[in-house]
Amino acid sequence: MNKEISQNKSPNEADQLQKRKDHFARNLARSAKTVLAELEENPDLPLGMHYFINIMREVFVKDRVHQLLLPSLHQSTNNRKIIGTYCIMVPEELIYAAGAIPVRLCGGSYEASCIGDELVPRDTCPVVKASIGFTSFNLISLYQMCDAVIVPTTCDSKRKMGEELSKFTEVWMLEVPHIKDSEGSRRQWLQQLYVLKKNLEKFTGRRFTGRKIRRKALDTSIKMIGSAQYQARRLYEIRKSSAPVILGREAMIAINAYSYATAFEWTKAMTGLNDELEARCHKGQFICSEHTPRILLASCSPIFPNWKIPSLIEEMGAVIVADESCMGNRYLYDPVGLTEKSMTDMMVSIAARYLMPCVCPSFAPNEDRLFRLLQMAEEFSIDGIIYYVLKGCVIYDFELIRVEKIMKDKNIPVLRIETDYSSEDIEQLRTRIEAFVEMLGTKKRNSLATKTLRF
Ligand code: SF4
Ligand code: SF4
Repeated sequence: MNKEISQNKSPNEADQLQKRKDHFARNLARSAKTVLAELEENPDLPLGMHYFINIMREVFVKDRVHQLLLPSLHQSTNNRKIIGTYCIMVPEELIYAAGAIPVRLCGGSYEASCIGDELVPRDTCPVVKASIGFTSFNLISLYQMCDAVIVPTTCDSKRKMGEELSKFTEVWMLEVPHIKDSEGSRRQWLQQLYVLKKNLEKFTGRRFTGRKIRRKALDTSIKMIGSAQYQARRLYEIRKSSAPVILGREAMIAINAYSYATAFEWTKAMTGLNDELEARCHKGQFICSEHTPRILLASCSPIFPNWKIPSLIEEMGAVIVADESCMGNRYLYDPVGLTEKSMTDMMVSIAARYLMPCVCPSFAPNEDRLFRLLQMAEEFSIDGIIYYVLKGCVIYDFELIRVEKIMKDKNIPVLRIETDYSSEDIEQLRTRIEAFVEMLGTKKRNSLATKTLRF
């Protein structure tokens, strides 16, 4: 359970803080409600999307995350620990195998980032500001119910965030190497995961009762997350369809919702959504024409309830068919590859899965990311890339020049947009995105017309 910023304050100060907290919590609920209402207004919204929208409603509007996790909390004992994570590099398999439940805490709220603004340097990225804001004010119970949080040492901001968060909650830093291809890095990473395993065993009481993380439990959790990954990849494949059957802002909410549900429940719902979308493909029930510009949303993650960019892109008449965000496609992309099932083999496979395919810009060199982007551009027949940079995120911005260069060779335009979670720049962004989409639309119509003439 978190300490709050209000601890050790006089009654008067605590009262003032409580009023501010209520004010921010009300505004957060209002912002989340507005985004969800906009999604629900779409007459083509797949029925299977309601489960995911409801998750967001329970967490951010009604503040009842317990309702989502409660069935799991009751599964064996009322005492299951909740572990918060701040990156896709945290192996959830180990958390589940220890009998705990992972929830992803990277913050996407403007209101929470305003609180964080007062606690960290001005140029810090909004993800970190919002994460600190949520925790320091216990703005919603999701943050309050975490028994410990795991923070990776990926970028500078996350590293310093871990230090700040430790004022409020128990923090375990996860040391992530910045070079993937060296034997030393791989060894260091594996060692880190053994430390994490031991911490989890101690924390969940397993180490003392002799019930350490068992081979069978780890195998089961690998399979459980593997099923979630299988369904996430099914959605990924469906989104390649030449005429889309789901909007990108909907598909991304569905993946984002994985953060706040158990893998088992989420997989059931995702299976239903995928079945529905495949049926739409067979019936030719498309949500837009083949002439609609197809966008790849690259770089920083849109994190609910900050749905400003995905909404603007699609309101302007384009469709996001792919994204490479850590709250989207990248979240559940790579499964653990197992050959043997000894504890050592499983630990080595988990370490390999979380390190080698990861294309986080905190790695250098990071050529794999360029290769992955090119592959996506081709597989999804991308017309243009929107390169989304959150203010203060230097590492993603650093890679822009190389992304622009390889995409220029493929004749794929790239639009860089830099923003934060506020709505102040929305009109300016709208104008730029509208012009970009319009240009892509004209280019696509001309190219289709040329093909028809040749035919
Ligand atoms: S961008 Fe890097 S630090 Fe951020 S969630 Fe993804 S892998 Fe983790
Ligand atoms: S990768 Fe960028 S957006 Fe993510 S925490 Fe680091 S600085 Fe912030």
